[in-house]
Amino acid sequence: MRRNRVIRFLIGAFAVGAFVGLVSGLAFGGGPGTPRAAVQSGNNSGNTSGPTTTSGEGQTASNEPMTPEMAKTIGANEMGQVLVVMYHLIGTPEAEWTRTPDNFRNDIAQLKAAGYYPINVRDLASGNIEIPAGKSPVVITFDDSSPGQYRILDDGSPDPDSAVGILQDAVKAGNWAPHASFFCLLDVTPKDKVLFGQPDRQQEKLKNLVDWGYEVGSHTVTHLNLKKASTQEAKKQLAQSQATLESLIGSGYQVTSLALPFGEYPAKDSLLKSGTYDGISYAYTAGLSLGASQPFSPFSTKFDPLHIPRIRGSANYLTDAIEYFKKHPDLKYISDGDPTTVSAPLHLNSKLGELKGDLGRPVVRY
Ligand SMILES: [Zn+2]
Repeated sequence: MRRNRVIRFLIGAFAVGAFVGLVSGLAFGGGPGTPRAAVQSGNNSGNTSGPTTTSGEGQTASNEPMTPEMAKTIGANEMGQVLVVMYHLIGTPEAEWTRTPDNFRNDIAQLKAAGYYPINVRDLASGNIEIPAGKSPVVITFDDSSPGQYRILDDGSPDPDSAVGILQDAVKAGNWAPHASFFCLLDVTPKDKVLFGQPDRQQEKLKNLVDWGYEVGSHTVTHLNLKKASTQEAKKQLAQSQATLESLIGSGYQVTSLALPFGEYPAKDSLLKSGTYDGISYAYTAGLSLGASQPFSPFSTKFDPLHIPRIRGSANYLTDAIEYFKKHPDLKYISDGDPTTVSAPLHLNSKLGELKGDLGRPVVRY
């Protein structure tokens, strides 16, 4: 079992000293089961996101079941494509792999203005897209755990010019939830890419991210090229990165998403899905690549959770993607506000693929 191997496994090099933890019981962030309406009008505050569970089961979305009329009024299309953005360095000057704090702030403002609402990678992979009705999901991802992504000031608060500070400010301003996925490295040079730098703050950062609602994922231990690596080395790093992050975060948190370093894949996806190294078993249900396209809906036959493409969060890539969906509204995912039901028009753009037959949840067509 996966839990057992976490207990067995400890890498001394990554232990971040004795941590006397104030571990919130809310390992997955958000509040406990806040009741929410299934159909919410366009502009709700960011505080209605609810818990970031990995399963939609057991959630009482509403007493009112979704109907074709309601879905049509909302304009829901949960077979539409999703926007996934990839960031690396947050700092100055702006460059191919660097976004300035001001430009990142502007990216979030643009997304908000265009009706996007953030979710984590794991929720895209599992189809647990819990956002207000009429909104479109955006997945914001960060690779390489560099300091500009999450810097803690002396008073314990996030640096307002680090990505986490900017995201938290966006949540406070409303119409936005604390969701984004951070893909961390554990043993690299320069050392400031080990868990966001600030060695005495590493575990605190991981716990904060998860407690607030963000996702922590693996980027392997050393930024390993999984295409070139031996099978044994790949298994070792897939197992050790997952187990180390989980033991640092604690509270039963499970790391389920992987951003593939350099976007390079091993010969077989089965190596990512599950495996065992030295008695430590691992499993990943989401894999992120590079690329300039938008992933399909998790409810489409075209969706591949281990090959989720991402656009770069630099230059005009994001602005162009937002424009693309404005020009092609029939390709855009629009939520019905009820994560337990899948709503879509009867006539879909053929690019979107077919609705999967085994969704295990009600489907509403109009
Ligand atoms: Zn990377």
